[in-house]
Amino acid sequence: MRYEQSPSESAELLRLALPMMSRQGSGYHPVSYAVWYEYVSGINPALKDRVDDLVKDGQALDDDNTYGVYRECILDAWSAKSVKVNQGLRELIHDFSSTTSDVKGQISTFDNSLQDFSYALDNDEVDHDRREMLLRESLGLRTGLSALQVELEESQRTIARLQVDLVKLENEALTDPLTGLYNRRGLDVAFDRYAAQCGSAEADCSVVLIDIDNFKVVNDTFGHLFGDQVIRGIAGTLRNHARSGDLVARYGGEEFVLVLPHTPVDEAQQNAERLRAFIERSTIKRRGQNESVARVTVSAGVTGYAQGDTLNTLLARADNALYCAKNQGRNQVALAA
Ligand code: GH3
Ligand code: MG
Ligand code: MG
Repeated sequence: MRYEQSPSESAELLRLALPMMSRQGSGYHPVSYAVWYEYVSGINPALKDRVDDLVKDGQALDDDNTYGVYRECILDAWSAKSVKVNQGLRELIHDFSSTTSDVKGQISTFDNSLQDFSYALDNDEVDHDRREMLLRESLGLRTGLSALQVELEESQRTIARLQVDLVKLENEALTDPLTGLYNRRGLDVAFDRYAAQCGSAEADCSVVLIDIDNFKVVNDTFGHLFGDQVIRGIAGTLRNHARSGDLVARYGGEEFVLVLPHTPVDEAQQNAERLRAFIERSTIKRRGQNESVARVTVSAGVTGYAQGDTLNTLLARADNALYCAKNQGRNQVALAA
C-alpha cells in the first residue's frame, strides 16, 4: 500500500493537516503526520471515525491516542488485506481437515463392520442383525461422503476466490500505480522469470534506461499534476512501442527501463533512437484541452548482455551510458562502453 496522491495534492493535504496537528497534544512527528494526513485526505474512513470519536467534546489527541490510532487504523489496516487472504486459507484448511477426519472415522467404522460381515459370511453366520448394522453404517458412510463432496465443491469455490485475491495482491505489489507499468520489484520478478525461462539464452537481451530531460522544469512550469500526466504519457508510448515479451518498468520518478529479450545491442540502440525521436516529435496537451502545451525529450543509455551479467550490472552500465547522454547535451541515446 502506498500513498498515491501527486506532489501537488499532497502539498494541499500538508496545508490542511498542519493546523489540525497544531490543535492536538502530540508532537509534530511522522506518526502524528501520518494520522492527520489520512484524516484530511479522506482516504481512510475508519481512521476518520475513530479520530472524530476521540476528539469529540473538544478533547485533544494525546501522544498515546495518536500512536494507538496509527497502529490500529494505519499499520493494521495496511496488513489487513494479506491477513484476510491468510485467514481465508487457514479457515479453508481447518474446515477441510475436520470434514475429512469425520469421514475417515466413518470409513474406519465401516471397514471394521465389513470385516465382521465377511467373517460372518465365511462362517455362514449372516443374521438379520448383522445385515441391519451393515446397512446402517453404509448409509452413514454415504451421508459422510456426500458431505465431503459438498465441502470439496465449496472448497474449490473458496480456492478460486483466494487465487484471484492472491493474484490481485501480487499484482498490486509489482505494479507502479501511476502508470500501470512494472515497478522495481515487478521488474526484478519479471526479469528473474525471463532469465529462468531462457537459461543462458538471456545472453542476447539488451537493456535501455530512459530518463525524461529537465523534468524538474516541466514540474516547475506546469505543476506536478501535469508532470504526472507527462509521466503517464511517456509510459503509454513505451508500452505501445513494446513487442510482446519486452519488459517495461517505471524505475524511479521519471526514469524507465526496457528489457528487450533476444535483441542485439545495436538493434536495441535503434529502437531507443526511434522512441527518442517519437517522443521529441510528440506534443503534450492538458487533459481535456486541445491546445498543445509542452514538448519533452528523453535521454537513454543502452547496453547488451555480457557473460555473468545480472539485472543490476546491466542497469549500472545502462546508467553510465545515460549519464553520458545527459552530459553530451540530452535528447540522445548513448551506448554503454
Ligand atoms: P535531467 O535532464 O538531468 O534528468 O534533469 P531532471 O530535471 O529531469 O532531473 P532531476 O533528477 O533534477 O529531477 C527529477 C524531477 O522529477 C524531480 C522530481 O520532483 C520529479 N518527480 C519525480 N517523481 C515524480 C512524480 O511521480 N510526479 C511528478 N510530477 N514529478 C516527479
Ligand atoms: Mg530527468
Ligand atoms: Mg532521473
